[in-house]
Amino acid sequence: MNAPTSMPSIVPLIPENAPFNAEQRAWLSGFLAGALALDNAGVTALAPSDAPSLQGDDEAEAPWHDPAMPIDERMTLADGKPLARRMMAAMAQQDCGQCGSDCATYSKSIAEQAEERLNLCAPGGKETARMLKKLIEESGGGATSPEERAAKPAPVERNAALGYSRATPVEASFVSRRKLNGEGSEKITNHIEIDLAASGLTYEVGDSLGVFAQNDPALVDAVLAAIDAPGDFPIGGRALRDVLIEDISLALAPDMLFQLISFLTGGSRRLCAQALARGEDPDGDAASLDVLGALEKFAPLRPDPEALVESLEPLQPRLYSISSSPRAHAGRVTLTIDTVRYRLNERDRHGVASTWFSDRLPEGSPLKVYVQKAHGFGLPSTHETPIIMVGPGTGVAPFRAFLQERLAQKAAGGAWLFFGHQREATDFFYREELEGFSAAGALTRLSTAWSRDGAQKVYVQDRMREAGADLWAWLD
Ligand SMILES: Cc1cc2nc3c(=O)[nH]c(=O)nc-3n(C[C@H](O)[C@H](O)[C@H](O)COP(=O)(O)OP(=O)(O)OC[C@H]3O[C@@H](n4cnc5c(N)ncnc54)[C@H](O)[C@@H]3O)c2cc1C
Repeated sequence: MNAPTSMPSIVPLIPENAPFNAEQRAWLSGFLAGALALDNAGVTALAPSDAPSLQGDDEAEAPWHDPAMPIDERMTLADGKPLARRMMAAMAQQDCGQCGSDCATYSKSIAEQAEERLNLCAPGGKETARMLKKLIEESGGGATSPEERAAKPAPVERNAALGYSRATPVEASFVSRRKLNGEGSEKITNHIEIDLAASGLTYEVGDSLGVFAQNDPALVDAVLAAIDAPGDFPIGGRALRDVLIEDISLALAPDMLFQLISFLTGGSRRLCAQALARGEDPDGDAASLDVLGALEKFAPLRPDPEALVESLEPLQPRLYSISSSPRAHAGRVTLTIDTVRYRLNERDRHGVASTWFSDRLPEGSPLKVYVQKAHGFGLPSTHETPIIMVGPGTGVAPFRAFLQERLAQKAAGGAWLFFGHQREATDFFYREELEGFSAAGALTRLSTAWSRDGAQKVYVQDRMREAGADLWAWLD
């Protein structure tokens, strides 16, 4: 699932006289509020019979569990709660799985001192990591002896079977990439095929694939030039350049790097680096300072390469919704990946994993992957249950998998897909396949929205509003 950019608070959209009890009404209101706020960054699916309950004890104990709420408000709501709950409030509330589990499990592991890594909440970023550190310090520090730590339950991910956790990736093989956009599109989205046969991995529709990608060697070379270090400088028996390509995040500069820089500079530059290390923004450029940007801002710098590597964060795996069904592609998995490129502070920036897949990874190369099982996201258990899928942009990925599965199951239930993107002529991913699903009866209704085709921008949420009565009947 694409990481949602923002989700609204729950709003009462379901009429009081609708045939639902309070709990069902609250769940549906939350679902619709999320769905109607979706733009190109979000996806969701509704399988009414299997819909997870968002109400109940957990919800009552975690009223801040709303990605749209700023961290300060979340922390206020969590005030006075047990440490694990306050730690959960510090996270980005997306349950996106990038940490290896969900916000509640990850925070519990940290509070129980079974997990030492405070930087795994990708959407929360530095803000979350800083708050977690502060909470640990306030609670008397997180330091435990190795014996004490060994006695704690290990985080969920470390207990997972080989290939089913970010801690236990296995080797797969990159088969091919195919551009999905037509000539003239503003986007580059690739259909990626990966061979899982040798890995023995299996998956179900709704699951995601975790991928360990590599940094762009050109960016690594620029970092080496900025610190005037040779690429073959030995770090733990490996070349510095390889370590930077394979293991180290060169994204937003971490606080530790600014601390290191503050030791290497003096005067106002030291004060500036110290302020940045405290999370302040003295020059108004903190949000644009990746590792290279930070090194160039304080140039010339000659940090010890080993100290530099220690001050940086590990490169994290990226998750991608699986866009195939194992019934249609035994031993293979496909992904649908948008290439991330943007310009910031007069430098072109390239998303690590998406540009690795689109530009750098040679076909036939090995790669490290794992299957991240979905929680509460999948097809209903009965084939007759109708499904409504809302998947603009690459959000369509898991629903391509759902439709392949439904076709293989010869499912009788209706299936309605809302798909949208910029332009019909260039951005209608999987058009022929979707038409094939329609012809075969696996897709019974397709509603599309093109935001750049007309004078007025139309999004999937507009199509949902237009079809409100029918949508209501399907939900009913
Ligand atoms: C469960 C799950 C499923 C996912 N499924 C898919 C999928 O099916 N398809 C897909 O394409 N993605 C998917 N994603 C997102 C994916 O995991 C990656 O986050 C995405 O591909 C970017 O990774 P990257 O390494 O290329 O970019 P990174 O190197 O991680 O860079 C991305 C970061 O760059 C920054 N950024 C991006 N654009 C701008 C801008 N214009 N200005 C300033 N900063 C910017 C943001 O901070 C962003 O977080 C999914 C994520 C999750 C959690």
